[in-house]
Amino acid sequence: MERRKFFFGLGALSALQVTAPLKAVNPGFSAPEKIRVPMKVKDLQVLELLGKNKYRAYYIKVITDNGLEGLYGPIDNEAVMMVNEVFKKQLIGQDPLATEDFWQRVYTNNRHSRGSYYSIGMSAIDNVLWDLKGKYLGLPVFRLLGGGSRDKLRAYASCLGFSQEPDALQEKAKSLVEQGFSHQKWFLKGGSSYMEAPGLDKNVEVVRLLREAVGDKSDLMFDASCSWDLSYAVAWAKRVEKYSPRWLEEPFQSARIESFIELAKETSISLATGEHFYGRWDSQEFLGSRAIRVVQADPEWCGGVSELLKICHIASVYGAQVIPHGHSMLTSMHVVASQPDMVCPMVEFLIEKMSGNYQYFDKNPVFPEKGLVTLSERPGFGIELDDSKIENIKVIL
Ligand SMILES: [Mg+2]
Repeated sequence: MERRKFFFGLGALSALQVTAPLKAVNPGFSAPEKIRVPMKVKDLQVLELLGKNKYRAYYIKVITDNGLEGLYGPIDNEAVMMVNEVFKKQLIGQDPLATEDFWQRVYTNNRHSRGSYYSIGMSAIDNVLWDLKGKYLGLPVFRLLGGGSRDKLRAYASCLGFSQEPDALQEKAKSLVEQGFSHQKWFLKGGSSYMEAPGLDKNVEVVRLLREAVGDKSDLMFDASCSWDLSYAVAWAKRVEKYSPRWLEEPFQSARIESFIELAKETSISLATGEHFYGRWDSQEFLGSRAIRVVQADPEWCGGVSELLKICHIASVYGAQVIPHGHSMLTSMHVVASQPDMVCPMVEFLIEKMSGNYQYFDKNPVFPEKGLVTLSERPGFGIELDDSKIENIKVIL
């Protein structure tokens, strides 16, 4: 056993003063008959962190009756609200390792559980419980989920907010290739359904300019942010197929599955969507009807790590891929690393968001090197807050 892994395991054990988990990190250890130490959730907290320029972020913490803690964040404001109003009282006193049981119980006992805010709240709980589980067993989440062969993942450059003036566009695209990104995604402006549509010609020209800039050194993906109608999307797809885009993302809102199905019949370009999927059933419906080939469920919105894992399994049945939405990094990285490359080939790296304040309080922010992001071996998600950046911290729930 590597010295580093041994000490991570030992750290988790000393906190718990139990022997059984050592069996999980050291197969040769002769554990007593007791399989695990029962523990209950004692408290669930939302922490408000304040930093320079009044920057604010929320993290969720779960505390057990034997002193173990799970930490996850930053989480969305919607999650904060739902954790307080709905989920906290349902989690106190429960076994924090029984994540499947908790998920099923809270999903079935509320008539609005298919809604977005409910799912966002469930995701926050599920994710912090996975962090706790990792700390209990002394292993990073991606190893608990069955991964281990990949600790570096391909990240694609997600270019939201960059100039699309021809010179700037081509210069940025070339620089991303030079930085080592083998894939990049650009966002196309609204089409026919917008009052001030930029015109089809312009959205075709962006593709031509990018292919000219990167040659065959990069895959190109495009996101229409739900702003097109079927006619516009068909016309765009027919004109840009010769530039070989890897996928077209969210030409329509996910409620319009019929438009996805029709477009898929009209073009050879793979269609992608899923950042607004809540639960595994949306993925099943889109894949089963051959509407898309790439699922982009978001582990902070779809129901957490537990649910994204199920979505990966569904996608594998259809020979489709899951490349999670890049709203966050850690949960996506751990799930992707746990799956075969064929199912989960890469993660999204939203350059502007991840390079801004999003990871501000994290002592170990994730940035790609030569187009690859690296998973840590710290237990759970391995989040460590940077005390030097926290000007004020308080428990708000
Ligand atoms: Mg998108």
